[in-house]
This record gives sequence, structure tokens and C-alpha cells, in this order.
Amino acid sequence: MQNLKITFELDEPIILNRYSTIDSILLDAYFKRLRKQGKIAEFVKTQDYLTEISKFIKVENNTISGSVWYVPEYTKAVPTNLQIHKVTQPERIIKYNRLFGSDTTPSKVENSGTGEFKAFKFGIESLVLSSIYFYIAGDKDVIIDLLNDVNYLGKKISYGKGYIKSKIIEPIPDDKSFLLNETTPAKPLSCQDWNVKTHKVMFYSQYPPYWSKDKVACYMPSASLKEHTDNTYANGQYSSMPDAEFISPTKFAYGLLSHKLKVRDDMEYNDTGTCAMCGDKESKGIKGNTETIIKKTLGKGDNFNDFPYILKGTGFICKHCIWSVSGNSVKDGGKTIKDASPFDNLCDFILNKDGYEYIQSKKADKEKWTQEYKAEFFGSLNKQKLPFVIALKDTSNNQHVLFKSAVSISNALIPIQVGNRSMIIDDEILQEAIKESGELIKEYSKKLLTNFSKDEPINFTSDERLMDFYAKYDQDIRTLLNFIIFNKEVKDVKRKPKKVR
Ligand SMILES: [Zn+2]
Repeated sequence: MQNLKITFELDEPIILNRYSTIDSILLDAYFKRLRKQGKIAEFVKTQDYLTEISKFIKVENNTISGSVWYVPEYTKAVPTNLQIHKVTQPERIIKYNRLFGSDTTPSKVENSGTGEFKAFKFGIESLVLSSIYFYIAGDKDVIIDLLNDVNYLGKKISYGKGYIKSKIIEPIPDDKSFLLNETTPAKPLSCQDWNVKTHKVMFYSQYPPYWSKDKVACYMPSASLKEHTDNTYANGQYSSMPDAEFISPTKFAYGLLSHKLKVRDDMEYNDTGTCAMCGDKESKGIKGNTETIIKKTLGKGDNFNDFPYILKGTGFICKHCIWSVSGNSVKDGGKTIKDASPFDNLCDFILNKDGYEYIQSKKADKEKWTQEYKAEFFGSLNKQKLPFVIALKDTSNNQHVLFKSAVSISNALIPIQVGNRSMIIDDEILQEAIKESGELIKEYSKKLLTNFSKDEPINFTSDERLMDFYAKYDQDIRTLLNFIIFNKEVKDVKRKPKKVR
């Protein structure tokens, strides 16, 4: 086994999750080969192949070697706006639905302009970078061989994004594939197997793929795109819960709020299984066609078309997730709120043991949701009491989706649900970015930041100082900065934070 640095020279803009690791890229190629040879089934669990994998990639403390990606020190970056046009393809939808056991008639597709049938246009940020690099420890020859199958990195490769021009594999003296130093992980490391002096702790998958629903508390790498040393212990302002057992966001919310917003009592929750929405393995719920369960739960016809689109076929949905989307009439201080569901009521909120607080909401107060309040709120995320959940809308119509969000077990690294999208905010890096951007904003105004709204074009520029800024701060940090400083959507909204206990 050798300690290696792998550099990819890029020819095309790239869209890559901050926490993507080189082992997940190599193992994707490895499992594709095995599948092609008919040696494994369609879906396998990476952790079941640790012995095999350890023959060519180092495995230490039950963890596969392979760092997240970094931008080389003097590399500049320019974000671009990739416009995606989603068109309605009736035949594909019908075929897909049938595959999962539900029937959709052609007339239904043609007459509907919502949910899965909606055609739309949106922009995705991709970064123009000349190169990125990773660290890994393993068998150089096997790794080079697997890399032959890797020609693109990241998302939207069908648009040609992430095309790799060349690969450089060089031996280095130290192993930097697990830890950069004692306070900074180079990849997500399970808190059970490692001991790292950092408060950047989050529920994350210990093994690729990262979207797996098997999540545990992990020590997380810095969100900075350049190699960066974390100091959350020395900083003294942060706390974390490395011993926390996974809890789904809907179960967490249910535990805190079910006395106020009751679960529907006209349904029976006698089954157990793995929830198709939140991934929880132990809760009670309902087995069956997930689309039917949700439609019945909502009792609102096709109002929430987006859910059936996500939840195809037969499966299981837990009581907590049903609760989180169900419409119901409940009493709140003697007053009956019609159709009050946590989903509606908790729009734009922070939730913890003390109750929930609206950040902005139709149901919150009439005073102005000010730039000052936003700056204050996001400027002091480190003061939030653990554990907690934050969810925001991204446009005036779109709601957040509670079951897709995550419970925060650290106030140094904070998952925030924004509409359908999950952002991860590294507070240490955010504070640095706020400091650095203050000065730049005077000069460049909106050109500095990623736009919050999905369908607006992004006005980027290739100025020297800005390129340094883009190369250092990840998209989630820049998006939140834009929300704190410029967001138009909420500028005119007359709302005020309100405490509900
Ligand atoms: Zn669930």
C-alpha cells in the first residue's frame, strides 16, 4: 500500500458534492465492473465487501481510505450557470410508473402541469476549475487500472460536465487520506471508530454511497475547498454530540410536537419496516403502495404530487413521516387551526427542546423579516442548543420537506433544509466568508454570491479576488451568504420570529 495524491486536470466545469470522496469514485468503477461480469447483484452494501476492498485500498478502523476533494493552492475558480430544461415526457413517465406497479393514463399526463408532469427550467451552479486533487492509500497499480474507467467527475456528465483531461498519480510521504491533522478529518469518519478533536459532527453515511440511508454520527472534514485546518475545539464556542444515535428528523419533530399537532387517528400503524421517506428502521407505520398511503394521508387529492413521484411502488412509511405531511384539524390554545400539518405550520423554523421558533412564515407575525434579523440569526448559529432542526422555504411557494432534512448534532456543522435541497453549513468557514465578503461586497455587490433562487441567472465574474473567494468557499456557504445579505424573496415579507412553546 502506498500513500498517493491523485490530481484530475479538468476540461469542463464541475458539479461535485463537497463531501465526495475518491474511494466512492473508485468503488463505483469497481462495482460496475463486478456487475458487468455478473458477479454481484444490482444493489450491494459497500460494507459487506470490506475484505475484498482492503486488498487494494487501505482499510483502517473499519473505514475505507480516500479523502474529499481539494482545490490546489493557487488555482482560481469561476462558477457558471448550467441551465437545465426539464421537459414532460409522457411515455417515460407511464413506463416508469408501470415498472413500479402504478398506472398513469396518457390523458392524465397531458392534462396535468404539476408534480412529475411539470416542465421547467432551472440553473445549477458548476465550477470552472483547472484541477482538483484527492488523497488515498492503496495499491497504486490497481488504482491506476480502476481510474481507466473514470472519465468524468460529479453530476450532469450527460451534459459533458466534469470531463477529465488528464490524471496525475503521485506517491507522497504521509497518509492524508483519513486525517489532515488531529483536528481535521479528510473524510467523514464514524465517531464510534475514531477520536478526532473537532466539533464538526453530523449524521452521515460511513460507507459510500453518501446518499445511503445508513447514517451514523461522523466527524466531518472542513467545508473549505482548499486544504484548511479546523479549530472548533480551540475556538471554544462550539459543541457537538458524537455519541448520538441516529434519529430521523420526523421522529425528532414528532417527539417534540405531537402533543400539539396530533397524528391522524383514523389510520392504523401496525406494521414495521424501513421508512421510504426518512430511512428510520424501527418505527411503526403502514406497509403498502407508498403513493396510496401518502394520497390517503393528505386527503387533498393531488396537492402534493411531488411525494408520489419520490415514493414509487410498495414499501413502508413510518408514523412520524405520515404525521409530518398529514393535514388535520387541531386545537392550538382553544383556537382550531384547519388543515394544520407540521408541514404547513413549521414552514421556516428552528426546532429544538425549547419548542419551535418561526424564522419567517405566513403564520408568524406582521413585523418585518429584516436583513438585520437574518444576519443576527445566521451569524450566531454556534449558539443553537443541540440537537435542533432548521428548515427554510426557497421561494414563496415552495415548502421545505421535513423528512428530507437532518437533525443537527453540532452547532459547528449545520444541515439546513432549503425547499427540496439540503445545505450543510460549516460555521467556522461561514464566519470567515462573512468577514472576507464584507469588504468584497462593497465593490462587487451581487456578483459575489450564488443566487438563492433556482431559476434566476447567476451573475458571476472572473475577477482575480473573486476567483480566490469562489475557490475557497463552497456553494452552500455562498448561497447562504446571498440569503443573509440579498435575498429578494423575503425582503417584502412582513414577518417576525415568534416563539411557540
Ligand atoms: Zn419515516
